[in-house]
Amino acid sequence: MKTYIRCDAYFSERPHFGPFWIEIDKDRFGEIRTEEPREECASILHADEEVYLLPLLSDTHAHVYMNPWPISPQERSTPGSRELDIEIEDGRCRLQTSLKKGIGLVRDMGDPFGINLAVKKRVVASPDDYPAYQVAGPAIHRPKKYGRFLGVKRETMEEVHALIDELAEKENVDFIKVVSTGIVDFAAHEVKQKPQYTAEELKEVVAHVESLGLRVASHCSGQEGIDNNIAAGIHFVEHAYFIRPDQRAKMRDQGQHWTPTFAPVYQQVAFGECGWDRVSRRNLWRILEEHNQAIVAGHAEGMNILAGTDAGSPGVSIGDGLFVELRSMARSVSSIETLRIATAANADACQHPGYTGRIREKDFASFSVYATAPWQDEAKLGSPLAVYQNGKAVSL
Ligand SMILES: [Zn+2]
Repeated sequence: MKTYIRCDAYFSERPHFGPFWIEIDKDRFGEIRTEEPREECASILHADEEVYLLPLLSDTHAHVYMNPWPISPQERSTPGSRELDIEIEDGRCRLQTSLKKGIGLVRDMGDPFGINLAVKKRVVASPDDYPAYQVAGPAIHRPKKYGRFLGVKRETMEEVHALIDELAEKENVDFIKVVSTGIVDFAAHEVKQKPQYTAEELKEVVAHVESLGLRVASHCSGQEGIDNNIAAGIHFVEHAYFIRPDQRAKMRDQGQHWTPTFAPVYQQVAFGECGWDRVSRRNLWRILEEHNQAIVAGHAEGMNILAGTDAGSPGVSIGDGLFVELRSMARSVSSIETLRIATAANADACQHPGYTGRIREKDFASFSVYATAPWQDEAKLGSPLAVYQNGKAVSL
């Protein structure tokens, strides 16, 4: 017996208006029909309901091991400070919960304890119960520089290369993550720390990682650090606060990807208990506005912009954090573009074999069902009527 799902419209790079009857053929989409199937024994899901289908969304930048709550700095505990088994279980639960909210791919940008590697083993063992999951293992940072919550420190380039080999060969990581700069100082409206890697060092990293068939993501903010990431041809430039117009143009010309990660900065100013003073709050709003303008311009110029959140940062959950990110992004570009980025564009960039971010014949049947069109009614994102992963209904 064939199974179809009836919908009024579906999203796949853009909205397609029906009605449609879309075949679910085991774990994949089958034919997409514009006429009701006549087969007598066909089973039709949502036959008499008004529903809209959206491919599962994706987040290109998260840290599953970090608990985003509580947001207040005084109340936060040190990430990863409990027993390893408990931390792994919590990370696993955070990832699983995000599937119920309609997230189908999460890319983990690093943790110091190997929790993402342990969680990935569980995902691989039961792929219908989790979003697809790509991991970097630990990010690599320099001693006495920012990054101890994201990964491990390595001093010399020899040590950096040795760790890259180990991660690729023994841990089967999906990409390599380096922490190439410090973070934005909100009170000062700048990145104070000097870049952790020179352009030459980053070039070495890129060449080595490419020789292993992988790509490099880089934590990076501030103009000097961004220059180094551009010179080295880093594949995924993360954050890039304070990016200049000429740097945007170079990144576009070189086909580099940019994940702007709005959400963590937005949550700092949206939640009063973060405790920033007036000057810092004003700077936070200013940084957000400048970043927004850069996204508008970068998108219009044809940059490869991705949707990622830095989930795990205070107040940014895997799932709900993405909806914060997408609402911010939708102010810069349109809702439809935002959803295209969070599905097809992210999928094309991440190249996970199980996630295409599309509703298309022969692709994995992973999607959310909504009562209203999600590209018109963004407030409902994250509250789907149903979620299907690889053709199977996920219990919500
Ligand atoms: Zn991060």
